[in-house]
Amino acid sequence: MSVAPLVDVPTDGPGLVRLAERRLMRTYPPAEVVFVRGSGAELVDADGATWLDLFGGIAVTGLGHAHPAVTAAVAAQVAELVHTSNLFLTRPALGLAERLAAITGWPDARVFLAQCGATANEAAIKLARRHGKRRDPDKVRLVTLEGSFHGRTLATLEATGQPAKHAPFAPLLGYVDTVPSDDPDALAAAVGPRTSAVLLEVVQGEGGVRPLDDAVLVAAREACDRHGALLMVDEVQTGMGRTGTWFAFQSTPVVPDVVTTAKALANGLPIGACVARGEAADALGPGDHATTFGGNPVTCAAANAVIDTIAADGLLEACRRTGAALAEGIAALGARHPVVTGVRGRGLLLGVELGRPVARTLERALRTQRVVTGAIGDHVLRLAPPLTLSAAQVDLAVERFDAALAAIEAEDGEVRA
Ligand SMILES: *Cc1c(COP(=O)(O)O)cnc(C)c1O
Repeated sequence: MSVAPLVDVPTDGPGLVRLAERRLMRTYPPAEVVFVRGSGAELVDADGATWLDLFGGIAVTGLGHAHPAVTAAVAAQVAELVHTSNLFLTRPALGLAERLAAITGWPDARVFLAQCGATANEAAIKLARRHGKRRDPDKVRLVTLEGSFHGRTLATLEATGQPAKHAPFAPLLGYVDTVPSDDPDALAAAVGPRTSAVLLEVVQGEGGVRPLDDAVLVAAREACDRHGALLMVDEVQTGMGRTGTWFAFQSTPVVPDVVTTAKALANGLPIGACVARGEAADALGPGDHATTFGGNPVTCAAANAVIDTIAADGLLEACRRTGAALAEGIAALGARHPVVTGVRGRGLLLGVELGRPVARTLERALRTQRVVTGAIGDHVLRLAPPLTLSAAQVDLAVERFDAALAAIEAEDGEVRA
């Protein structure tokens, strides 16, 4: 059954770009490309051209676009039951909670389902306050790291260790202590009796794909244990196999009390989760926290399909193997293109390091080659392709990087023999 549309929306790329300019709030830089469909690591634009997607909608489409298992799960669930609220139970939501307990490896896990990364972290921050306040009414402070990113709600914005993002909204609550991300002693010193939790990313994603040293993680764990604070790991970007294990903390010496995840959890449908173990699992009680859409059966069905597919198809192993091949392939281009000084990161969350401030220029040159990547600042290009990226697509990515690097060198008049 179709209904007559109330308005006419253009179908062509330029028409949509013009509409965006006048109708959307200007929170994002103007975009020029309109994508109409995708499959795996491929996207098709409004002109019918095929692109290689090495970005996955900011580390979201971990199984690639239009993965048949997710499509089938969503289609079946959307035709069956879409929403009941948390006053009732549904099998997809409980199935997801059970799977999250299994993949964290926490038999005593309890789960709160949210809509996105920020709302998963918001739940974690409130959980830490309830936990802290049982000991001391003033135990509500949060320790976070410089360069971190935890979201854009007011509480998670303040937790985000990037002062430039705070400035337009100051004054904030003043409940956060932020320390350098590479200084275990500073971290230990910042945690005290009024600290409810330390919140950190094992690999800082938005901060430039920066893995933390194990020494920092160990210092955080010890300081939290000393002061009855919770160690909370934000795996919104690193979770769901992105770094080659279900969660990035699983390849470190520490186990947190709370983990949050979101981006790739439902391969593109909006969802987030806050998972806690031990005492932290019981910190929130009835009425303490809630959200209308949390546990939505459709997004949960998608997440269940994501988790089952990663397990059944061996995608954690594939991520480690493909990540190593992609990192090596691009790092090797440094021999011919000295602006590439290295590749850092884990699994398929990679940062191409550039010796000159050309990240935006390279990103544009790659777009000319129909490759999607994400510049972070001036010196890093982030890659977060699907875990299903094929060996042929790795070769194609390296080829197009080669061409894009040659193009920017030619522009600079720096062509090398
Ligand atoms: C993207 C991100 C968030 C915020 O997630 P949203 O879904 O945009 O709210 C939080 N933490 C980390 C580590 C992220 O990468």
